[in-house]
Amino acid sequence: MVKENYEKVKEQIAEACRESSRDLKDVCLIAVSKTKPVPMLQEAYDAGARDFGENKVQEIMEKYDRLPDDIRWHMIGHLQTNKVKYIADKIYMIHSVESEKLAKEISKQAVKADRVIPILIEVNVAEEESKFGIRVEECESFIETIHTLPGITIKGLMTIAPYTENPEDNRQYFQRLKQLSVDISNKNIDNVSMDFLSMGMTGDYKVAVQEGANYVRVGTGIFGERDYSSQV
Ligand SMILES: *Cc1c(COP(=O)(O)O)cnc(C)c1O
Repeated sequence: MVKENYEKVKEQIAEACRESSRDLKDVCLIAVSKTKPVPMLQEAYDAGARDFGENKVQEIMEKYDRLPDDIRWHMIGHLQTNKVKYIADKIYMIHSVESEKLAKEISKQAVKADRVIPILIEVNVAEEESKFGIRVEECESFIETIHTLPGITIKGLMTIAPYTENPEDNRQYFQRLKQLSVDISNKNIDNVSMDFLSMGMTGDYKVAVQEGANYVRVGTGIFGERDYSSQV
């Protein structure tokens, strides 16, 4: 099941690339495996997945040692400052940086781990009350505040679009994030590149690819519905 789903999503991404004349190599599929057990992740791995997305530090810790070590683990969820230390040496990229306090802690722990951690700035493009993220208007000044911190490198932007039945509803938000990344890129800020746009989930990843996503984060479309009642 996971293998078939994974291949189907890959096909849809390829189709979206053709439709928008984009190079398939520029779009990376992140298999969002939160709440899912290790054997299912292994199935996705066997189907070719190397990028996995999780939103809980505890879960990354539990899965990390039980799966192949060429997996790139992406932190895509809200990250508490006091937990950064547990994943600083494990995480490939952090997509959800949205406060100075968090950026400083990632910096500190990255220096300790003797590495540079690529980060994305989470932007609340749709201005939903319930969501974390920097406002579009504040994004540049936020980046100006954190870009000189050691141990981090700012690689782009991430957004979580609203839940909707109609993916077209979210096209505007993807376009806005893309535009913001172009604007910021044009400022040529040290230690900042806008190489990556992390946007699009199961319901809307094709639209996100058409609008320039480099990372799409697909959970349900690969692993099926999540059951939170049985979560560890
Ligand atoms: C859970 C989650 C996803 C995947 O959502 P699906 O709708 O299951 O594809 C993507 N991004 C973030 C930040 C998530 O928390």
